[in-house]
Amino acid sequence: MCIILTNEVSAEVKCVFCDCMQSRVVDSRLSDDGTSIRRRRECEACGRRFTTYEKVEMIPVMVVKRDKTRQAFDAAKIRPGVIKACEKRPVSLGQIDDLVRSVEKKVYSMGDTEVTSLAVGEIVMEELKKLDEVAYVRFASVYRQFKDIQTFMNELSKLLTDSEMGTTDGQTPADKY
Ligand SMILES: [Zn+2]
Repeated sequence: MCIILTNEVSAEVKCVFCDCMQSRVVDSRLSDDGTSIRRRRECEACGRRFTTYEKVEMIPVMVVKRDKTRQAFDAAKIRPGVIKACEKRPVSLGQIDDLVRSVEKKVYSMGDTEVTSLAVGEIVMEELKKLDEVAYVRFASVYRQFKDIQTFMNELSKLLTDSEMGTTDGQTPADKY
């Protein structure tokens, strides 16, 4: 992705050559991942050009665990569980990394400084459900630790009905777990 904005006038950035505070933005580009903007500026006083970068500041989100302890949210910690759930499934590591990234985005876009571990788990399950139903049920069953067996069974039977026994390789669903 690349957008170019022109005719921006901006003060408050000191020219690196002459210390003048007035510069004109001659070119702005959003980085490919959309997290930073590169601005090419021209000093109003000396006419020389320099570049500034504007980056999104990631405010840490704290995860509140069941025992009320808090830990900074770290998307990398989601990955092993998702990989485990996707074992022997037609899911690539690239897809898993994409999933981890969208979970991260969702957590940050909630706009809260704290999020419960429960909510993070729900987001992971939501994303996993779109990716691979078997991986989703596996993750859900471990994640909910069978405390909520009824939910698990409901999800399982829903999946089986949705996909007409849900198997393409002749195994019964029970074989998969
Ligand atoms: Zn200057």
